[in-house]
Amino acid sequence: MRLKVLGSASSQGIPQPFCTCLTCAKASGRNQRLRSSYLVELISGPSILLDACPDWRQQHLASRFEFDYLFLSHRHRDHISGLGEIRTALEAHDKKRTQFQKQRAFLLGSTLNRWLTDKQRDSRWEESVQQAYQQLLSRKFFRQTVLIPFKKVALNRNLTITYIRGRHGNNYCGGLVIKEDNNSLVYLADISNFNDKLKSYLSKINPDLVIAHVPFFYSPREKIEKERHAGVEKAKKLPGKKVLLSHFSHRVKLKHKELVEEAKKIDKRFVIAYDNQEIVI
Ligand SMILES: [Zn+2]
Ligand SMILES: [Zn+2]
Repeated sequence: MRLKVLGSASSQGIPQPFCTCLTCAKASGRNQRLRSSYLVELISGPSILLDACPDWRQQHLASRFEFDYLFLSHRHRDHISGLGEIRTALEAHDKKRTQFQKQRAFLLGSTLNRWLTDKQRDSRWEESVQQAYQQLLSRKFFRQTVLIPFKKVALNRNLTITYIRGRHGNNYCGGLVIKEDNNSLVYLADISNFNDKLKSYLSKINPDLVIAHVPFFYSPREKIEKERHAGVEKAKKLPGKKVLLSHFSHRVKLKHKELVEEAKKIDKRFVIAYDNQEIVI
């Protein structure tokens, strides 16, 4: 399988609009980051998009990728608000939709599915994301597969996925284990608290690559951020032959090169993500 990093920043992207900090003001090349999303292309055919970030359109136009499945990890804006753009694009492209046209599938947990189909919301962006999700389903652009935690699902003869679940501050956050033949990848999204079940599950597997989100690289100092986001200390305890660190905030205050050097000192398995990076697994 092949992983393409479509974006490697946290919720604001780097540079962040209006910000004059050193990280933002001088961001170019690998120091410039769109919001996080990844494309996993499988040898057996399908491809899986991991999260629909607000930069989906820009990412899509840059690489013109296809996808068969869209995994949604949790309800935060930087992970699902691309649904509005996906709806707009598909509606414009497939105006006269027939039953023979491609149908993609959402992969998500039941908590997020419930939230996306709950109409009793008052915030506008939530409403539009929920509306996009519901319309993509009702117009049959997508079907949905609600995943049960820790239950393996076969997508084809060589490919299985397993939904995993942990906490991200006060919210649940889902992750996905993708296994094709003998190769495997774990997407942890924003999971920062690993309960016993998740810990024991992870201790039994030795994936080729784990994607971990560490917006500040080091463990955050503020209590609230500590609950919400993992840092390298937590990432060190993760299994995997390689651990891809991603989802960086401008508050990381380190250039890509510096992140690479720091990471090397902490754990040889660490790889620092950058936009358009491709990793063969
Ligand atoms: Zn996030
Ligand atoms: Zn900044």
